[in-house]
Amino acid sequence: LERTLAILKPDCIRKNLIGKVISHIEEAGFKIVALKMLKLTPEQAKAFYYVHREKPFYSDLVNFMTSDKVVVMVLEKENAVNDFRELIGATDPKEAKEGTIRKLYADNKQENIVHGSDSPENAKIEISFFFPESELI
Ligand code: ATP
Repeated sequence: LERTLAILKPDCIRKNLIGKVISHIEEAGFKIVALKMLKLTPEQAKAFYYVHREKPFYSDLVNFMTSDKVVVMVLEKENAVNDFRELIGATDPKEAKEGTIRKLYADNKQENIVHGSDSPENAKIEISFFFPESELI
């Protein structure tokens, strides 16, 4: 079985959608291996999105991701990384397929409810960013 990292972003928390989004994820066959709520520091948000440091939206993204608490989760399933990307839909909800989490709940390409790792290699890095081994049994 494969693991991926999901983040329910500040807009998800503000819109009281934690339960609905987690139901959607569980109904799609993902097991929640680990879960916690926390407020990212600017340093953590910058480090997490380091690959985007040159993008014009980077500072807005860091501000958004630190604007409220987030819920971070490790999800497990066969083909978890790709299946989760399918489940959440395109970055921009306007381009996301019907029935995807972003199509259902997201407002725009920044406030898009949820993050999912984009490769198995990045999933491992992102999981260890938030969870020590002792929380991953
Ligand atoms: P994530 O990595 O959060 O799952 P993603 O892989 O769909 O999203 P990326 O291109 O990696 O999208 O961008 C990371 C995040 O940065 C997006 O989820 C979104 O919140 C924000 N973002 C991406 N592109 C833009 C943009 N053009 N304008 C504003 N925010 C953006």
